[in-house]
This record gives sequence, C-alpha cells and structure tokens, in this order.
Amino acid sequence: MNLKRRIYSAVAVAATLALGCSIATAQNYPTKPVSLVVPFAAGGPTDIVARNLAAAMSKTLGQSVIVENKAGAGGTLAPAYVAKAAPDGYTFLIHHNGMSTAPALYRKLSYNPLTDFETVGLVVDVPMTMIARSDFPAADFKEMVAYVKKNKDKMNLANAGLGAASHLCGLLFMSAIETDLTTVPFKGTADAMNALLGKQVDLLCDQTTNTTGQIKANSVKAYAVTSSARVPTLPGLPTTAEAGLPGFQVGVWHGIYAPKGTPKAAIDRLVAALQAGAKDPDFVRRMSDLGASIYPADTMTPAAHAALLKSEIDKWGPIIRKAGAYAD
Ligand code: ASP
Repeated sequence: MNLKRRIYSAVAVAATLALGCSIATAQNYPTKPVSLVVPFAAGGPTDIVARNLAAAMSKTLGQSVIVENKAGAGGTLAPAYVAKAAPDGYTFLIHHNGMSTAPALYRKLSYNPLTDFETVGLVVDVPMTMIARSDFPAADFKEMVAYVKKNKDKMNLANAGLGAASHLCGLLFMSAIETDLTTVPFKGTADAMNALLGKQVDLLCDQTTNTTGQIKANSVKAYAVTSSARVPTLPGLPTTAEAGLPGFQVGVWHGIYAPKGTPKAAIDRLVAALQAGAKDPDFVRRMSDLGASIYPADTMTPAAHAALLKSEIDKWGPIIRKAGAYAD
C-alpha cells in the first residue's frame, strides 16, 4: 500500500469506529452510573435538590445517578471541574444562579458558563428566607432590620462564598437596608446553618430547601421569604415586600449542565429522564414540602435553560459591577 492509500484507509477505519461509538452511545447509554456534581457541601440546599432529583432520575435512566460534592470557592470549583470532564455523558453539573453571576464576580474564572457547557434543562425554583440565630432579639422583620442597623458593627451574616445564592441574597439585603455587615463564608449553607444553630453567626439568607425544617422546629428565627408571594409551607412568614422591603426579592433557579461536546443522544436521554423524574411522586412531594417549585416540562430543555442563563448573565452583570463585589 502506498502512503496515500494507507492514510486513506486509516481515516476510513477511524471514521467507521467513531460512527460505531456514537451508535453505541445512542442505543445503550447509560451503561454505567452517571455522576451529578454539586458545587456546595453535602446536606445543604443544592445538595438536597440534587439528591432527590438523582433518586428520581435513576429510576428512568436505569442506572444510578451518583451525587458528588465538589464544594468551595463560592460554587465555582464544581463548574471548573465539569467543564474539563470528558464529554461522554457520564458527568453532569447541577448549579443555580451562581452560574450566571460568577462571570461578573470573579476576575479570573477558568470556565465560560455560556460556551463551556451544554445546557440540559431547568429543574426547580426555590425561594429564600431571611433567618437569624434562635436568640436574636427581634420579633419581626422590621425590628430585625432596626436592630441590625443599630448594631451593625457587631453583626455578621453567613454565606456559602462569593457567588452563592446566600451571598447574593445577603448583598441584596445589605443594599436594601443600606447597611454593610461582616460576612462569613462557608463551603455551603449546610455549614453556615450549623454555625447559626451554634450561635456563632447572627444572620443567614438561605433557600427554603435548607431552612424549612429548622424554621418549623423553631431552631432559628425566621423573618421573611424573598419571593413575591408567601410560601404555602411557611404561611406565617411575610414576604419581604409585605415586610416593607419590596426591592429585596430573589429566587434561586437550578439547571443541569454537561461538558461542551457531550453527544446529543446522551443529552436527549438525560432531558427525558429529567422530565420524567420531575413527575416522580416522591420528588414532587419532597420539593413541595420544602417550598420549591418544579419548572414546567417545556422548560426542562436545553434551549429554555440556555435562554434563562443568558438573560440572567445579562441581568446580574451590571448589578454586581455596580455593587463592586469582586473576587480574584
Ligand atoms: N446553594 C447554597 C447557596 O448558594 C449553598 C449550598 O447549597 O450549600 O448559598
């Protein structure tokens, strides 16, 4: 065989193998457990959504979905890891608003949320609650704000790092009450909640997926929900607007991402498993108990998710730049 013919036949063999592989991917995928990476600590709000979703999706995928916590750096370590993972359909990321705020918050970010991932679909939207240690000396939201303003040099506000939903909520709170507080970052709000329960920190704004149980058990003091309407599972809590701060609203949307280049067959299979999993009665009950709203099935798609991500990046960029909150 001359050199030219040898190259042609090598190319032909490679093309046949590649075609064979993609057909195998489409027909058999997944043939082993799938990993769902969570950017925050185990036991926190993102982790709770991920673990419930993983259990529901495992049923339809016919393979385990294993939750892996890669916590740290305000939720930016996990996307950095998934952006570089093999795009083979076996590694996915679940993340929230943090995906849209990191580009403005971090001067150096090793990934681009818009170009380094395939979007898979939206999952749930979760309201946040403004809570304090159980012995906080304020009976309602107004008193809490007055106390915080008066004692601002002694107050601290916990969060899950720069770019976490708790950090964004804290920024909005401080801007709404025109008062800066000392912030204390943790690897997730599971840890921040432990510090609040131990009275090592004073205040926390966190998602109902993490706070509902503690609020109902009266282990923390709750002052308001950050949604436009009251949360049915916490009917006694006023909205921030009812409590006098209409500009202080935040909802936490979650989506699933795959590394860029993940085969379409795998994404399609995952979208179907996400849409079916979201109807799973256990998942539906758990999310409703925790005050989370499941996205409609037609937004559990790559296109709807990509559109929301883009609009959120466009929304948060100017707010963050104006607030001057940056990390290196
Ligand atoms: N999602 C939470 C936050 O952004 C952190 C966590 O899940 O632990 O504050």
